[in-house]
Amino acid sequence: MEKVNFYGLALSDLKSLIKNLGKEQFRAQQLFKWVYDRRIIDLEQMTNLSKDFRQELNGVLDFSLPRISSHLISVDGTQKFLFDMKDGLSVEAVLIPSDDRLTLCISSEVGCNMACKFCFTGKQKLKRRLTTAEIVGQFIQVEDVLKATEKKVSNIVFMGMGEPLDNSDEVFRVVDVLHEPFGRNFSRRKVTISTSGLVPEMWKIGASRTRLAVSLNGYDDESRSALMPINKKYPLKDLLQACREYTRTTKDRVTFEYVLLKGITDQVEHARMLHQMTKSIPCKINIIPFNEHPGSDFERPSDDQIAKFHAELMRLGTHVLLRRTMGRDIFAACGQLTSEFANKPKTMDISNSQIGGVSRVRDFSSRQFSL
Ligand code: SF4
Repeated sequence: MEKVNFYGLALSDLKSLIKNLGKEQFRAQQLFKWVYDRRIIDLEQMTNLSKDFRQELNGVLDFSLPRISSHLISVDGTQKFLFDMKDGLSVEAVLIPSDDRLTLCISSEVGCNMACKFCFTGKQKLKRRLTTAEIVGQFIQVEDVLKATEKKVSNIVFMGMGEPLDNSDEVFRVVDVLHEPFGRNFSRRKVTISTSGLVPEMWKIGASRTRLAVSLNGYDDESRSALMPINKKYPLKDLLQACREYTRTTKDRVTFEYVLLKGITDQVEHARMLHQMTKSIPCKINIIPFNEHPGSDFERPSDDQIAKFHAELMRLGTHVLLRRTMGRDIFAACGQLTSEFANKPKTMDISNSQIGGVSRVRDFSSRQFSL
């Protein structure tokens, strides 16, 4: 019998598995506590399970995680991880520190079919969707690295590689797994799902009690369709209606992400149109100056133009945040993620860097740095 990866199982799945082994279902809660709460995966150490049962589980459960093949730390403290999956494909996750948070930006797919013009991942066609175990595995590996610092991830954003709603069954199972009170007990309200606008799937975000972010990037249908092909299928009228529905059912506001591209989306007039378009929806707008990547057709606006755009939205009374660019030196900034790591610019070695007073978070003797 092929082993089942533990990290791919919600508590209800594990209960069914254990029931099929003829054991009491509360054993599933004990296992969740050992693995997610205490981070013990050696079955021999799970002393509240009988020896026979531990042996039985040993033949059934697999606790393997995606392998960290590269771990880089930016001068601003942002950390980027490259994970290798069993089939040789890779994805990235980025850990972003701020005053009161430690946010993990996580990937849901290898490549992406949405083909947003400004995004490095979008240049790679979808290779495959990640499994629950592979997504939970990114989180667990990062928290294991953090153990030495006594810090924990405080927020998760599905803004890494892939369109999360294109892999929604797995993504929402991940939320269930991490939320389980017997396990990691990660609040659903600290999880943000960012979509390019897969309108028919958006209701699931409200239903899962996670938070909604929309990658907007256009001030009308024409400008958005030119940057995001999905807008031709689900135009702004439908997208904004789905956002209204989310705010109505959850009483939460939406976060709109808006990338500033020089000469394309960064004019003061565009700020006015953006305000006009979103003003009837309880929302916050994050403006993100473009981060260049190899082969990109776009440029970052000047600081002066960024400031003018920001000031106009402020003047109009929009709740707006100018997102500080993080991790640019290690190619971990927004829109710069890809699994084609080997093709990227040279960057720094973690072993020479300092983060939170820790010069080396974890020793990966077999790690291959991307230098
Ligand atoms: S921005 Fe998101 S949805 Fe668009 S191509 Fe990139 S990863 Fe895919």
